[in-house]
This record gives sequence, structure tokens and C-alpha cells, in this order.
Amino acid sequence: MGELQNKGKRHSAYQITVKRSLGEGSFGQVFEGTLDAGGGVGRVVLKRVKTRVEGAAEMGYMEHLLNVYAQRAAKGSVADFMGYVDVSEDEATRNLTPGTWLMWRYEGNRTLAYYLKRRDCLEAIAQDMGIRPEAVCATVLLQLCEGLNALHQAGLVHRDVKPLNIIFAERERRFKLIDLGACADLRTGTNYIPDESILDANYCPPEQYCMPTDSPHLSRTLKPLALAMSPLLWVRHKPDRFDSYSTGLVLMQLAVPKLRTSSGLKNFNSALKRYNYDLYKWRDAERLPARQTAVLDADDGAGWDLAESLLRPREVKVDDNGGVSFVSRGGAIRLPIGIALK
Ligand code: ADP
Ligand code: MG
Repeated sequence: MGELQNKGKRHSAYQITVKRSLGEGSFGQVFEGTLDAGGGVGRVVLKRVKTRVEGAAEMGYMEHLLNVYAQRAAKGSVADFMGYVDVSEDEATRNLTPGTWLMWRYEGNRTLAYYLKRRDCLEAIAQDMGIRPEAVCATVLLQLCEGLNALHQAGLVHRDVKPLNIIFAERERRFKLIDLGACADLRTGTNYIPDESILDANYCPPEQYCMPTDSPHLSRTLKPLALAMSPLLWVRHKPDRFDSYSTGLVLMQLAVPKLRTSSGLKNFNSALKRYNYDLYKWRDAERLPARQTAVLDADDGAGWDLAESLLRPREVKVDDNGGVSFVSRGGAIRLPIGIALK
């Protein structure tokens, strides 16, 4: 049944030392630690696999499964997944509770959310990446889109793209995606429950769902049938546009200083709704000073065009037979993304 074919590398609990908690509270159980792999000791991040649905043991493996897939599909653009540890009752410590823990390389201590809080946001990123401040927005967007493009090509939708889930990897001096806890595999239906909305409202597209709620439960469909149906559903509903929209919001926050706070973002979201999701109307009504919009204005407004295409919501269409689909005016994330690197 839900047995994992490839779980990645298995480590022993005795190789692990837990240091400090990294979890933000609500979901908890994310720690920094070390892995003694014989050849040397490395810093790692450990996260307890959630068992979200009572009585369905295999559901607990979803984040694990998705990490194995994503590592294969988007290597270098998502945090390095290092495998897992099954902690028995005997091996458990106060922090390392019994159960399955997933493990990643410790990429660094700065997420994009950290940089957005800084007054010198773009300069700080430029310094850490070793590039010029003018190139920061385009470079970060490109790295984000590389990762999402690779996930989408593999049939995965991240569904939780936001600054807290984008980490600066110190070794490679680039940003990577983390947190596949909400990621869905739309080829097989893994971690995809059509009527579930567990997502961060501030970064969610207005239609809120990846797929219309009445679309088939792929995970309850025979696997060969699910695999055959999946490309059709993808074409029909464009689930990847869910991540496109979140990415558009991240771009706006990076580019426009007044949108970096959570109240700034909330105001932007409600204003955009008032303008019927027409970014140009928002721009024309808002009349921000040039220093707020310089990044978007550069190159004949290339940044505005990119943000506008990412921030187009899908519309719900009902056909004559009552079938519901999402119709998108917006494009998929394709590379190159159309803004010049300076
Ligand atoms: P949650 O489900 O709690 O949001 P995340 O996977 O987003 O779990 O991890 C929580 C926090 O832990 C992240 O916001 C980040 O600060 C830190 N973190 C996660 N993965 C890594 C990593 N590979 N390297 C460094 N820090 C990480
Ligand atoms: Mg997270």
C-alpha cells in the first residue's frame, strides 16, 4: 500500500545529537542538531514526521515521500535532504521523541523573512550572495522559479511558498526552498486532498485551492488510472498557478519596501482584491514614490510585467454538465522569467 519504495538514507539515532529548537511553535518539533557520520560531524535539521490523519499510517509518510521526490526533481533548489532516522522508545531522548524524523543539511540561519525585516534588505542579501544590490530581486526570483519550475515539471506543487520557507544556503550562497509539509504530488495524489485548505492565507491565491474541490481524489483512484488522469487534470486546472501567485507576492515584497511588513502585505492583498486583481490598477491608484517602485520600474517595467503575470488568479468555470474547472489568464513559471539580471 503506502509503503515507500525509496526512503532515502537511513541513519541511526545514536549518530544524532539534538541541539536547539528551530520550530516556530504551531507545528513544533524542528530542531538543529549534529550527525556523526563516521567521517565527520555535520550540522543538520531534524523534523518529526506528522501523522495528520488518524488511522491512516501511510499518510504520515507523505512529507517523507515528497522530500525524496523533490530531492530527485529539484536538487540544488530545495534544501539538501539527507534521509531519515527511526527513533525507537529505547533510543528516544527528551527532544528526540520516538517515531520517524526527517533530516536535512543545516543550510544556514537566515530565511528570506529575516532579510525582509531588515531596513537594508537588498544590500544585506547582495552582500551575502556576493552580487550587486540592483541584481538581488531578479536573482532571488530566478532561483525561486528554478526550484518551482523543476517541482512543477515533476508534478509537484509546493503550496507553501513564503519568505519563511525560503532559506539562504550559506555554502552555495543562494536561496533554496524548504518545508514540503504542504507539498502535493498531483501525479499520484500524495498529500493532496481536494477540499483541504491548510495554507498560509497571506500568501494564498484568491481561489485558495490547487484544484477545484470536486475534482477526483487521485489517491483513492487506482494508480495507473491516476497517472493517466493527472496530465489532463493539470492542463485543465493548472494547479502550479497556486505557487505562481505566492511567488508574485514574494516578488512584490522584495521589490517594494512598504509591502515587507505583514500589515503592508495584508493591505496590499485587500487592495488588490478591490481592484479585481489588476496590478496595474493598483499601481496607478497607489502612486507610490519612485523609491518604492524603482526595482519594478527598471527595464521598461519588466518587474511589473512579471509580477502582473504571476498575480493573475484563476477563475472558476462551470461547464454545461456542471463540471468545474479553473481557467487561468496567467502563465506558468517558465524559464527564463523575463527580467534581466544586471
Ligand atoms: P514548519 O513545518 O514548522 O514550518 P519548516 O520545514 O519550515 O517547518 O522548518 C521550520 C524552520 O526551521 C524554518 O523556518 C527554518 O528557519 C528552519 N529550517 C528548516 N529547514 C532548514 C534547513 N535545511 N537549514 C536551516 N534551517 C532550516
Ligand atoms: Mg515552514
